[in-house]
Amino acid sequence: MKTEVVDLSQILNKDTPAYPGDTCFSSCPHLTFSEHGVRVQKISIGTHTGTHIDVPSHFIDEGKTVEQVSLSWLVGPAVVIDLTQTGRDKDLQKRETIGLDDLKPYESRIKRYIDSGETPIVLLRTGWSKYWATEDYIPHPFVAPHAAQWLVDVGVRVLGIDTFSPDETVVDSSDFVTAVHKIVLGAGAVIVENLTNLAAIQEGEWVVSVVPLKLEGADGSPIRACAWRKE
Ligand SMILES: [Zn+2]
Repeated sequence: MKTEVVDLSQILNKDTPAYPGDTCFSSCPHLTFSEHGVRVQKISIGTHTGTHIDVPSHFIDEGKTVEQVSLSWLVGPAVVIDLTQTGRDKDLQKRETIGLDDLKPYESRIKRYIDSGETPIVLLRTGWSKYWATEDYIPHPFVAPHAAQWLVDVGVRVLGIDTFSPDETVVDSSDFVTAVHKIVLGAGAVIVENLTNLAAIQEGEWVVSVVPLKLEGADGSPIRACAWRKE
């Protein structure tokens, strides 16, 4: 039987929004069909452009770089934490904080995977991916530092979200908020940002892949995040 694979990645094109102050995606022809009889493009992309992974060296001196993170962490069972109206009494508002109360109901499920030796991939579904490439994508909900600390204390090693960041995103780079990044990456764990389509894997048991490019010494990498049903 053919495996159903769900795409959890945002598209990379000229309209892909960059985190404030970060680099944009671009591509141009390197070899063309008309001139060379073959098509090859040259792309320019940041390590944190589009759907991507942050690894410890992003914020931690001597932290692991992309090629040093175990692939066995990056393919694992999904725990989708529903923060939309269906999972709470109302939708998250702009710049609303995601707290411990939002995460606690998923504690036993997360622990069950960890106790059985698996690395659950915890995915925060805020629903904010619908604002991708609009100005409303910036004032997204974000995780309270004590909630992030609880996740890493429980043993979570991969935390994903369907926004720019699990920290608050501000436009002025002198005010960058990084507390959650420092807690998660400081624990040796990784963060996945700009996910989409998490509603499609809310029900049932899914395996998620957030595997990066094998970039030597990199602090992050674009990924093609996807999921398939757990057997
Ligand atoms: Zn990043």
